[in-house]
Amino acid sequence: MIKMKFQYTFAEMKKQIICSSENFDVVRIVNPKTGREYSIEVKNGKYFIKKKQDCICLSNKLNSKCGKRFSQKVYFSEFDNNDGRKLKIVSKHVNLEGKHFILEMISETHDNVDELKSRLNKYADIMKMQKKALITDSLTTVYNRRYIDNIFSHDCKNINGFCLAVMDIDKFKHINDMYGHTLGDAVLGSTAKYWKKYFGCDRQKFIARFGGDEFILVSKDSNLIKFKNNIESLYISFRKTEIFSRNKNIDFTLSIGCASADESENKNFNDIFDIADKRLYLVKNNGGNNIL
Ligand code: GH3
Ligand code: MG
Repeated sequence: MIKMKFQYTFAEMKKQIICSSENFDVVRIVNPKTGREYSIEVKNGKYFIKKKQDCICLSNKLNSKCGKRFSQKVYFSEFDNNDGRKLKIVSKHVNLEGKHFILEMISETHDNVDELKSRLNKYADIMKMQKKALITDSLTTVYNRRYIDNIFSHDCKNINGFCLAVMDIDKFKHINDMYGHTLGDAVLGSTAKYWKKYFGCDRQKFIARFGGDEFILVSKDSNLIKFKNNIESLYISFRKTEIFSRNKNIDFTLSIGCASADESENKNFNDIFDIADKRLYLVKNNGGNNIL
């Protein structure tokens, strides 16, 4: 299992900080190694990160250790009453334009403990929902490009049997032109739904929309022959499945290029993707409706 730090751009983090500041007294990003606090600044429309100070906790006693202390778990909430005051704290690991930070949100509270726990849980749920929305394609409800970027920001060396397929609808532009954009959307939705259901969607296998009419299928526990065989048999059934939309049965085909990590020297996602993508274009050049 790859350790996942959620990725933010500077602009997104600034937005998150502003948004969370409505609920917390202190919202800050801390370098977990140095315990130093940073801020996100904007100048001439450009976002950048600036060192502030050693991280000082609300209790003042914890001083620079607090950044490290909060970072011991991936994501958690707790109370701290070191000096008799109750604090609510939410912290999580984030990847901020390639660098590891902890996002900390802290408030002093006078709530009773049960009320506080329930409010913290609600806030944690809201953050989970926000995170889910960020990694989900709103049209098709499968994962989006951001999810792919997040989980493959590391190489794939530690994944045994990593395989992927790039899948593209043939002449999709024609479907849009012929039946209209709304029906085109429905075709994208039905295609994603079929593969999500039959290919699978769990920690080992999933589908994501890469953009436009292009999807990728990922399996972390296969080999190229097994993976391709599975996709071939699913595609045969897919072709027999009638994709209905507004009482019209739309007949369309897919082109699919497959690759495995074994075929790539560096075993990074982009290299494996490129191999699969080249195969997809070979299929397209030969008229589509095939798997290579
Ligand atoms: P090919 O067989 O070579 O794949 O051709 P194609 O027409 O499928 O591919 P092309 O890249 O030329 O066109 C893709 C079209 O997908 C163009 C774009 O308008 C349309 N498209 C992209 N995103 C959406 C979307 O969210 N909904 C709809 N309905 N259409 C979209
Ligand atoms: Mg296409």
